[in-house]
Formats: sequence, structure tokens, C-alpha cells
Amino acid sequence: MSYSASIDFDKLRAAMVTGQLISRNISDSKVLETFRRVPRHEFVPEDLRPSAYNDYPLPIGENQTISQPYMVALMTESLKLKGAGRVLEVGTGSGYQAAILGEMSGEVYSVERFKELADRASRVLSSLGYKNIHIKVGDGTLGWSEFAPYDGIVVTAGAPAIPESLVKQLKDGGRLVIPVDNGVFGQTLKSVERTGRTTRTSDICACKFVPLVGKEGWPE
Ligand code: SAM
Repeated sequence: MSYSASIDFDKLRAAMVTGQLISRNISDSKVLETFRRVPRHEFVPEDLRPSAYNDYPLPIGENQTISQPYMVALMTESLKLKGAGRVLEVGTGSGYQAAILGEMSGEVYSVERFKELADRASRVLSSLGYKNIHIKVGDGTLGWSEFAPYDGIVVTAGAPAIPESLVKQLKDGGRLVIPVDNGVFGQTLKSVERTGRTTRTSDICACKFVPLVGKEGWPE
């Protein structure tokens, strides 16, 4: 029997929702319900499963990370999703946030630049029965125009500036949530809401993400 087999992950997950999300004012009941359900430990490397519900990011290979639970919840809540819409995620990583989004929207399109990560995330998501999450390998700074426009776009890596291609792929009334370099002390998580041809950008909080590497991101 592996060490993980003796761990009560349901209990750890419930404690994570109370101790890390509700305590920091995540209040959208749909977000909280979804975090109570999705088995985060399935998305982390086997030897790290005992730490899957801890309050920090974890390595997932290729020098990348699965983000801290609170940050995933905050980004998800900030999208203000209204149900069966279409969502684009840039940076599939482990597939955990895609699973959360898959439970809260109609279809999820997720782009990852590392094939290894995209393949592993696809395997985990299909083993858990998700059929509405579509993953491709590529440069997500350019979005995924084939399925645009999107009700929400979430970028899970830090950009030098807001990619124009992503703003163009937002639906009228849709929101883009993205960490952007602030040129002073790190990154700021921003929300960009599109109304017709105009956008309104607001700051959510300071944050720290791995770099967004691509044509409308940081150079390789
Ligand atoms: N959302 C992920 C999860 O739930 O595990 C966390 C992702 S990790 C913080 C950021 C991811 O963005 C990495 O897997 C990285 O390879 C990916 N990434 C960076 N630049 C990218 C780009 N231009 N297009 C697609 N993926 C990119």
C-alpha cells in the first residue's frame, strides 16, 4: 500500500476550502462547491500527493507549477462565470484549473506550450471523466481563435503586458484574468472586462507566476 493510500484526501480538501479559501473571502458558492469536489491530489506527482492541499504551489515537471489553491480560486471567482459558456485557459500545466473551469462552464479550451504537460493533463482529465475540456499544445498568447469568442479567459503564467490577441477573443461582457509584470516589484493580477470595443482594466492583487513565454509574452 502506498503512503498516499492511507491519507483522507476528502478531509484535507474540506479543510483547504475552509482554511484557505473561505477564510480569505472567496465567497462564490459555485466556486466553493467546485473546490470541495475536484480531487487536486490527482493532478500532482504521486510523491507530492500528501502536500496536494497545502497552501502553496507545487512542482509538476518542466520547471512549472500547479498554482496555490487560493490563487486558482481567486482567478476563477474573478472570471464571474455565469454557467454554460466557453472559457479559454492559457497554461494547462497539471490540468487542475481546467477541471475547476470544466465544472463551472460549458466548454473549456486550454493551451499548453509543453507537450509532456499537455499529454499528462489530458490523461488525468479523461481518467476523471471530463469530456468538455479540450487541450492543445501551442502558444497560448495567441489564444485559440477557432473557438472564440470566450466568456472568460484565464492566463496562468505572468505576462510582460496584456496580449492583444486575447482581448480580441473575448466576448462582449467577457473577462480576461491575467498576471502582468508591473515593472516595479513583481506581478499584478489584473481583470480586463470587454464592453463593445472598450475595455476596463482593474487590479486584483499582487502575485507571482512562472513566465508566459510566447509571441505576445516573454521571449524564449
Ligand atoms: N493552470 C495550471 C494548473 O492548474 O496546474 C498551472 C499552470 S503553471 C502556473 C503555468 C503554465 O503556463 C505552465 O505549464 C507553462 O508551461 C504554461 N505556459 C507558459 N507560457 C505559455 C504559452 N505561451 N502558451 C501556453 N502555455 C504557456
